[in-house]
Amino acid sequence: MNISKSHCGPEDSPLMQYVIKHSLREHPILARLRLTSLQEIGNFMMISCEQSQFMVNLAKLINAKKAIEIGVYTGYNTLNMALNMPEDGVVIGCDICEEYTSIGKPFWKEAGVEHKIDIRLKSAVETLDELLAAGEAGTFDFVFIDADKENYDNYYEKSLQLVRKGGIIVIDNVLWSGRVLKPAAGDVSTQAIDKLNKKLAKDPRIDLSMLPIADGVTLAFKL
Ligand code: CA
Repeated sequence: MNISKSHCGPEDSPLMQYVIKHSLREHPILARLRLTSLQEIGNFMMISCEQSQFMVNLAKLINAKKAIEIGVYTGYNTLNMALNMPEDGVVIGCDICEEYTSIGKPFWKEAGVEHKIDIRLKSAVETLDELLAAGEAGTFDFVFIDADKENYDNYYEKSLQLVRKGGIIVIDNVLWSGRVLKPAAGDVSTQAIDKLNKKLAKDPRIDLSMLPIADGVTLAFKL
C-alpha cells in the first residue's frame, strides 16, 4: 500500500489520509499556504505536511532557535518552523527563486512571524559560506537540506560546520523515488544522493537514521 508523501488531499492513499486525520495539527494559515502552493507548477517541490510537522517537533525537542532551510519553495516548512520557534528565533531560507518565495511572504506576515524569516536569494553555497565567514560556525541548531541534489554533499559539509554539537541536519529525498537502488549512468542527481548516503553511513562525525517516510529522510545528529 502506498503511504508515500502526502499533501493532505483526496489524492492521498486511504492509509495516508488516516495518518493525517489522526496526527496532523496544521495552523490554518499554513493550510492556506499549502493549498495556494499546490496550485503552482512547481508543486512537486512541496514538502509533505506530516514530514514538516515531524521536523518541527524535532526542532522543538532540541529548543532550536537558529535554523537554516536550503531550498524554500513557497516556504510552507519555513512558516511552520517560524510559527514554532521562540520570538527571538530565526530561520534563514536559502533559495534562488523569488517567484516562489514571494508566494509565501504574505502568509508569513499574516501569521505574524515574518520577523523570524530571513530569505537569502542567491546560491545556497554562497549563503552558507557567508555565514561561515561571519563566524557563525557551531551556532545553528537545525538545518533542512532540500535543494539541487548535485550540491547535496556541499550543503551537508557546510551545514555540519554551521550546526552545534547536538544539532540536527535533515536531508530530504534520500531515496529519490527508489532510484538510489540503481543509479542510471548520467543521472547525476541520483548519483549525488547515493554517494552522500554511502558517505553518511560511515561518517564518524554524526549519529544517523535514514527514515523511509515521504521520499526518504535522513536525520544526522552532530556529535
Ligand atoms: Ca524535497
